[in-house]
Amino acid sequence: MVCIDGGDPAYLERYLAERAIPNIARFMKEGFATVAEGTVPSFTCPNNMSIITGTPASRHGISGNFYLDVRTGNAVVMTGPELLRGDTILARFATAGAKVVSITAKDKLRRQLAKGLDVSRGNVSFSSELAERCTVAENGIEDVLEFVGMPQPGMYSMELSLFVLEAGIKLLERDRPDLLYLSLTDWVQHKYAPHEPEAKRFYQELDRRFGRLAELGADVALTADHGMNDKSDAAGRPNVVWLQDILDASFGKGDTRVICPITDAFVAHHGALGGFVRVWCQGRATAQDVMKVVKQIKGVESVLDKPTACRVHDLPADREADVVVISTADTCIGGAEAEHDLSGLEGHRLRTHGGVSEAKVPLILSAPLNDAYRAKAGAGAPKSYQIFDFALNGAGESR
Ligand SMILES: [Zn+2]
Repeated sequence: MVCIDGGDPAYLERYLAERAIPNIARFMKEGFATVAEGTVPSFTCPNNMSIITGTPASRHGISGNFYLDVRTGNAVVMTGPELLRGDTILARFATAGAKVVSITAKDKLRRQLAKGLDVSRGNVSFSSELAERCTVAENGIEDVLEFVGMPQPGMYSMELSLFVLEAGIKLLERDRPDLLYLSLTDWVQHKYAPHEPEAKRFYQELDRRFGRLAELGADVALTADHGMNDKSDAAGRPNVVWLQDILDASFGKGDTRVICPITDAFVAHHGALGGFVRVWCQGRATAQDVMKVVKQIKGVESVLDKPTACRVHDLPADREADVVVISTADTCIGGAEAEHDLSGLEGHRLRTHGGVSEAKVPLILSAPLNDAYRAKAGAGAPKSYQIFDFALNGAGESR
């Protein structure tokens, strides 16, 4: 199972048309392919947790990278396993006696992915970010660089993702685990649009490794945690709604608190700007007052009060703000302009995610569905989607 972080269907659409990713094309022809609805907010943590628990955020509790603890007034990072509610599929498999491997690019995901996973019993869990520091006690494996045959990859590199796949291939060869969960990073998709050669090269590198996994006998499942959209204007300037500045101008400083739940320690490629933010009302302004102001802002697709946001997007109420603001596909939302550092973009157009417009993800299996799942997929599949129409028509079959 591979989560192609930021794997917007647009990348696959282009490279399938160019016949540049033959292994993925074969999976789609011989197995199954559709576009699935991801969790909103379309961020990394909520969707990885939905994938490995099989539940919506209302159940697993991870609705972003940060939420505001209203008792302390502190923004709390949501990556601790204690915040993840319920069991993971990985841990359940391991408890039932399966050998399970979980590898992620960014270490922030590692502990939640490994919740309840006993690495003393032949199971493995590590991140390529901290590959050089793995120990048997903590990760179930050591000397990882030597084993994989790659140097420690940099935080901002495509190798950070390729390392995850290489390690998965090596472990598949050596240990024949029953279940591998391989979660990549979206650095490439944040930085490069589908038409840019770097992105194509990345997908060709991925495709080669997916082919290798299948060759070794794995049933390969590919999906993504979220898509990605260009959010700059014609001149290349980011289209940003600086929401905290707008609310401060309307209600005064300190009256509202905007939290950008895309924020983590790893923001150079998106400046902590995403398509989904939360507003807590901590002064005189009510949710209704805030919504009235936000509705007027260009680039805002929807503004929801807490009960509506929880209902529409299946979110946990105890970690939800008073108001949720979601941007349109071409716009992102920040807090106060002075608090976002966009220097990491280094002249690249801003590409990011978080909204409903980035919640469509590919779902591709190398093997056909059984009858029960075919019936399920037929009932729930989105009506039409070009990439898959293309691939399926190209394959001369309907599915
Ligand atoms: Zn992601």
